[in-house]
Amino acid sequence: MRSTSSSLKIDENLVSINKEVKDYREVLKYSKEVLNFIAKEDLSKDDVEWISTETVNNFRDYVNPGFLEYRKSVTSNGEFAAVEWKDSGLNSFVDVNGKEYIDCLGGYGIYNVGHRNPKVLKAVTDQLKHQALHSQELLDPLRAALAKLLAEITPGDLKYSFLCNSGTEAVEGAIKLAKLHQQKKGKFHFIAATGAFHGKSLGALSATSKGLFRKPFMPLVSGFKHVLYGDIDMLRKTVEASKMVGEDIAAILLEPIQGEGGVIIPPKNYLAQVRELCDEFDIIMIVDEVQTGMGRTGKMFNVDYYDVKPDIMCLAKALGGGIMPVGAVIATEEVFQDFFPNPFIHTTTFGGNPLSCAAAIATINTLIEDKIPERAARVGDYFIGNIKKVISKYPSLVKEVRGMGLMIGLEFTDNNIGYAASKELFNKGVLVAGTLINAQTIRIEPPLTIEEKQCDIVCIALDDALKSIKDAR
Ligand SMILES: *Cc1c(COP(=O)(O)O)cnc(C)c1O
Repeated sequence: MRSTSSSLKIDENLVSINKEVKDYREVLKYSKEVLNFIAKEDLSKDDVEWISTETVNNFRDYVNPGFLEYRKSVTSNGEFAAVEWKDSGLNSFVDVNGKEYIDCLGGYGIYNVGHRNPKVLKAVTDQLKHQALHSQELLDPLRAALAKLLAEITPGDLKYSFLCNSGTEAVEGAIKLAKLHQQKKGKFHFIAATGAFHGKSLGALSATSKGLFRKPFMPLVSGFKHVLYGDIDMLRKTVEASKMVGEDIAAILLEPIQGEGGVIIPPKNYLAQVRELCDEFDIIMIVDEVQTGMGRTGKMFNVDYYDVKPDIMCLAKALGGGIMPVGAVIATEEVFQDFFPNPFIHTTTFGGNPLSCAAAIATINTLIEDKIPERAARVGDYFIGNIKKVISKYPSLVKEVRGMGLMIGLEFTDNNIGYAASKELFNKGVLVAGTLINAQTIRIEPPLTIEEKQCDIVCIALDDALKSIKDAR
């Protein structure tokens, strides 16, 4: 038998290196065309036709043809695909055909301070003028400043921040931090809730609840149990039973209102009872405020309504002011100190970069200076009240409207009606969530800057949409 080292030796005479120079002329030409498109301020009819055709073809051939069925890609007259082009004021955007939409989807809750909020835009462009990304070696000032601001605005003793790029990464970071803190106590198990959404990376997916997303990827990260959301008795019994069998719970991870689950608001005392249970059993309480945070529900954070102080909070979505992606895991010193000895134990290259931090700092400043959470509470009450009046005329089509602040769920009597309504609204220039597979409850999450008169327009469009659906039945 030959020795390992001699078998690894490569006979260089047998290796041929490809010395051909690849022809990049097409890549150069196409990228130049797209760069020209990006630089345009207005689109000619030819531009519109070109970009619409290119986008549909590229989605079909290079992104994922499946999206063409689900995205709102065909206008009512079937002419051009609805390809987005630019923002129009804080609360609307325009497609390449010049059709304007009031944004009641809000990127699933990213536009809390509106589209291209001037203050956020200025902070990001000012920062871009002198530095885009960080050296990775020197101390970056904006990361430090943002961490301080997050400690100030978050409840209780939440103090140290790990910055990342998305909600999924924030949840992933929270799970790892909780594991690190609890493993020395022999606690390795997690509880999440049915209806929960925490992201789709393998760790976050273990906490997410939908079987459709989870089943194909099993086994997931071990040690996750799910209980019925909002049911404190079941949660307590699960904690107790887990302890009896030696599977002590390290952390409980919950959304204060379930977003993806269909705007599910738990009983009023639920979160406070979860806090008590966590204290009793020395369990870390992780609150996922990725969607409910930054003013969405009428307070800076939804847990603020109940004076509940979690040990770890996850943020993302609107934290970047609708301009930059940024997420954060904020923890108490007690929990976060396990990251102190080796800060490299959990890292990310882009997380907390200067552009993202500039956006987040401007977002926090804007939320407070413009009293945006209070505005969300006020306009949310107005909007929900008026939606109630409209839907009371169509009890066979709509079950109920519910919400807190401007996190609103409109539940239809079945999925098909929800889908038809979202399509009708889209044709009338109102964008709401609602796909072929998931439209029984449509989420209405406009920018928190939406004006009352825009809410009125949406209500009229909803009334018309429901009337034509009713007439067609
Ligand atoms: C959207 C969302 C996530 C995932 O955030 P991404 O930025 O999409 O990775 C996690 N938790 C909640 C509650 C969310 O709404």
